[in-house]
Amino acid sequence: MEMRRYQDVAESTAIAWTDATFNPWIGCTKISPGCDHCYAEALDKRHRWQGASHWGVGAPRMRTSAANWRKPLTWQKHAENGLLPDGKTPRHGRRPRVFCASLADVFDNQAPDEWRRDLWDLIELTPGLDWLLLTKRIGNAVRMLRTHDWAASTRWNVWLGATIVNQEEADRDIPKLIATPARVRFVSYEPALGPVDWTRFKGIDWLIIGGESTQGAKAREFPVYLARNSLRAARRIGAAPFIKQLGSNVIDRNDAGFEGDGDDYWPAGTADKVEHNPSGYLEEHQGAPVRVHLHDRAGADPAEWPERLRVREFPV
Ligand code: SF4
Repeated sequence: MEMRRYQDVAESTAIAWTDATFNPWIGCTKISPGCDHCYAEALDKRHRWQGASHWGVGAPRMRTSAANWRKPLTWQKHAENGLLPDGKTPRHGRRPRVFCASLADVFDNQAPDEWRRDLWDLIELTPGLDWLLLTKRIGNAVRMLRTHDWAASTRWNVWLGATIVNQEEADRDIPKLIATPARVRFVSYEPALGPVDWTRFKGIDWLIIGGESTQGAKAREFPVYLARNSLRAARRIGAAPFIKQLGSNVIDRNDAGFEGDGDDYWPAGTADKVEHNPSGYLEEHQGAPVRVHLHDRAGADPAEWPERLRVREFPV
């Protein structure tokens, strides 16, 4: 029963950049500051699927049901008929995308290689779907993926992504991402926890930017300049920028309208949502951080953002 519950949620995913989510297994180990508030671990703790925890080194990972594994084959049939995984007619004119593993990391070395082989087989059996593999273990990808077979195939349907939360991870992992063959290489800068100089890197096709959302533990701050800077840098390096959400704990300068580009300001009608720093006044403390309250709890409604940040592009 519990299993059904998450599968149903997965099928009607609200993630704006994908059409379906497939979890081949459940379980992982925290390895990055980006993992600190891992919602998948919290979900696993809550449900204790099969009576066990699946988090940490040595904890068994849990493969999902055979019925779940058959779903992408149905999605493939839908794709052949020009339909989305849920059987609906797409409003966009692109190939359907499947986000793989929201409750695990496909390059987790604690997950059996045999499961990964089954997953690669499934990806090969579903050429009508674009598979988005997003990992915090990009260093394992070149060894674990069938990159040599796939790189030679015209039907290559894997988009490979690395999660990067700060400059240290960018310097360590982006060269590994770029060195791994993939049809599309993308970076998920979510949760964005520190500034990153993206202009050091070439070869990123897509840059997804997002603040952390509160899921149990209070979200860490997302200073909006991280989005502004990343947007500008993405344009400079030729990556398609996609601002996914500003998160649940949004911070900005009280004079943000004057920072950098002069026309970057919070739209009319949102001023009442800005709580000025109690210790300061706009004129005396120019640049003081203020908390920005948005109605959407994850800050994921672009209608609440400054117009310049409403950017959701995909690689071509
Ligand atoms: S890699 Fe992803 S799934 Fe694994 S612990 Fe970190 S945030 Fe959670």
